[in-house]
This record gives sequence, structure tokens and C-alpha cells, in this order.
Amino acid sequence: MKLDAHWMPFTANKAFKANPRMLASASGMYWTSGEGARILDMTAGLWCSNLGHGRESVARAMYEASVNLDYAPSFGFGHDASFTLAERLAALAPGDLNHVFFTNSGSESVDTALKMAIAYQSARGLGSKRMFISRERAYHGVNMGGTTVGGITTNTRTFGRWAPVDHLHSTLDIERNAFSKGLPDFGADRAEELEQLILLHGAENIAGVIVEPIAGAGGVIIPPKGYLKRLREICDAHDVLLILDEVVCGFGRTGSFTAGIEFDILPDLFTVAKGLTSGTVPMGAVFCRSGIHDTIMASAEGIEFFHGYTYSAHPIACAAAHACLDIYEEEGLFTRVNEGIGKYFEHVLHNLKDLPEIIDIRNYGLLGAIEFADQGSEAPVGVRVFQEAWKQGVMLRGLGNIVVMSPPLVAEESHIDEFAEKIWRSIRTVTEEQRMTA
Ligand code: PMP
Repeated sequence: MKLDAHWMPFTANKAFKANPRMLASASGMYWTSGEGARILDMTAGLWCSNLGHGRESVARAMYEASVNLDYAPSFGFGHDASFTLAERLAALAPGDLNHVFFTNSGSESVDTALKMAIAYQSARGLGSKRMFISRERAYHGVNMGGTTVGGITTNTRTFGRWAPVDHLHSTLDIERNAFSKGLPDFGADRAEELEQLILLHGAENIAGVIVEPIAGAGGVIIPPKGYLKRLREICDAHDVLLILDEVVCGFGRTGSFTAGIEFDILPDLFTVAKGLTSGTVPMGAVFCRSGIHDTIMASAEGIEFFHGYTYSAHPIACAAAHACLDIYEEEGLFTRVNEGIGKYFEHVLHNLKDLPEIIDIRNYGLLGAIEFADQGSEAPVGVRVFQEAWKQGVMLRGLGNIVVMSPPLVAEESHIDEFAEKIWRSIRTVTEEQRMTA
């Protein structure tokens, strides 16, 4: 098979095509590779396949939707499943986050939320409030808004930024918080920096603050106790919106529907994608508080918000999301995380701490990270552990010196045990090789 024509996203194309990792099929907690190997999915794909793979009821729902109504124009036309889905989702959301705008991805959700924030400020006569404050190491997708507020330098440096933005420091503090379980004890005071940035740029210029409750692609960075609450207080004090990007954290990953609920923070807007359809078909959404929605609605006759996508609320995606919500509910998956399997994962993960080169292990719910000492080498240990783990039959995600885990919420203790054995062997192999070549 020729591999040249497909330009792969966020992939080292030349290296991949020299040594491809192909996936042929998936079922439950396992992939089957192109070579027929069974691979344990410890990442839910890209943090999305929360229900495990090959759920028949989801496939059937998508098939039936596609036979019945394969497409419905999203501008100016409706179909039942989008309204019932929005109502169901709004009922899960906290407070008055009652309005749901559908998108097709996390990136689209982020850009939609940023535009909603600007539309809201403008609708109430505060059109100068257009700037955003985000965080270093933040990942908010790759569209223009998300790239602009993003805090991972490799993703931004070629492109620059298209709107005014400033960044808070990341809260990662390995010196003080190494090997913490759940929320780290130290670092809530980092939130005070937000007040300084608001004073520096002027609240009259700032539309909102956007943060991932737990930063995913930046390396699973867990917020210190009290940090997010303090961000909320500072936003309130200065009339600045707080947007939580729940694309990774939403749909049970932290043990609640959203991390906002888990950490008792009420955002003004929040984004989801991934777990909404458990990765089966592209779909995202933005949840919006009533006051923001009503202000935008009251601001214009005719079309109130000049924004949307051809495939917003696509009938097949709505059907998939309904079927996924049924499974989340029937199998009690949100609460399962903190009541059982999340604790087991924590215990097993921290048992790896005596392996060589590890400088931190951190986790919350079914999110975990192992960070290795920086060797300054071209192939960081995290990436090599990921590569070795693939050979051993487990899918991890390597982010520089960090490997991250986000298993499907249906993982059993036996899967976590299998992961532990395979990652143990992978880390031993990589660090031994490194010792030999040093
Ligand atoms: N926000 C966050 C927090 C994410 O982790 C991601 C994707 N990993 C996105 C936005 C973008 O989502 P997508 O790739 O679906 O556009």
C-alpha cells in the first residue's frame, strides 16, 4: 500500500511512513493492529473512546439515523434528535448552563465559545472586551481561535496569534507536588496572577479566561486545590467570563459529567467533544449560561449569532450521542470512575514510582501521567516508552518526556494490571537501552 498521499495530522509523517503503526479493528478495550497484534487501549484513542470500542447500540443508532434522515440542513431547519439531545445534555449540566450549540470537534467548540464570549460582550455594549487569557501548556484545538489562545509553543510558533491574548503560567510544580495523588496541595496561589494580568491589560479589554480544568495534551496537569475556585472569583470580581474547555475532562473522565461539577466550579461557557459520541463520529458542543444566551438573543432581530457549521447537529451524530448517553447512564460510568476503577488505577500507577528516571507520577479520575527526567536527547524517554509499549501491546500517548494515560471508562482491574505489567517492561527496556548507550 502506498502511504504517500495521505498527509497525516500531528504525525511525524516521514518516520511513520518508514515504520507505520496500523490499526485494523477494535473491540472493547482492545485494538487489533495491522499485523494482527492485540493492543490494550490505555488512551481511549485520543482521549475519546470512553465507552470502549464496537458498541453495537451506538452503531445501530447511527445506521438507523442514516437510513431515516441522512442529513438535515442545520441553518434554519430542525430535526427531533437535536432538540431532545440538547435538552438531555442541558439537564446534565450544572446551574443555568441550559443552552447547547452543536459543533463537529473540540477545535470548533473552542472557537465557537470564544466567538460567543465576544458576541456577548458586544451585545451588552462592551465591544472593547475582545482579549482572552489562557495558560501556558494549554491545548485548545487547532483552529484560529484555539491556536491563538493555545499555550503549547510548538503549535503556535509557525503561525503566530490572530487576536490579543496573554497566558497564565502552568500550575505544574514537580518540585513541590511530585507524586501527588489527585489534586496537588501546593500552587493555588498561582491563580493570583490572573488578577495581575487583568489589571495589566484592563478588564474593559478582556472578554474571558479559558482553561482546561485538567490540562490534557500539555501533560495531564492537575490543578492544585483551590486554584480553579480562585480563578472563578477573580473573573467574577472583574466581570470577565470563565470558559472551561472540557473536551478531555467531560463525560466522566474525572468521575463526574464535567470537571467543573467535580471541582464545584460554575463556568459561563464550557466546551465538550470526544466523549460526547465516544469518538464514533465527529461531534462537539458548547454549553452556555442563560444570561449569556438571552443577552445575545435580545441583541438582534433575525439571525442573532452569525456562526454555525454545515454539519452542526448532524442527525447521525445526534443519534450516536443519544446512544452513548444511554450507555453512560445504564452502566453508571461517570460515578464508576471515582468509586472504583479510578482508585485502582491510581494505586497501580503510583506503584511504578521506583522505576528508573521517573520524576513524577500524577493522576485524577482516569487521567494519569508519568514524567521522566529530561535527558536532552532527540528521542525523549516518554516517546520511546510509548514506542516500546506499542511493541509490548499497549497504546499509550508519548508527549516529550511524559507518557499519559486516559483509558476507556469501562476498563476493569485486569486491564489496569495488564497495563502495569507492560509499561513496567517498556520502561525497563528503554532505560536499560539508554544506560547501555550512555
Ligand atoms: N480542547 C482540548 C482540551 C483538547 O484536548 C482537544 C483535542 N485533544 C481539543 C480542544 C480539540 O479537539 P479536536 O481535535 O476534536 O478538534
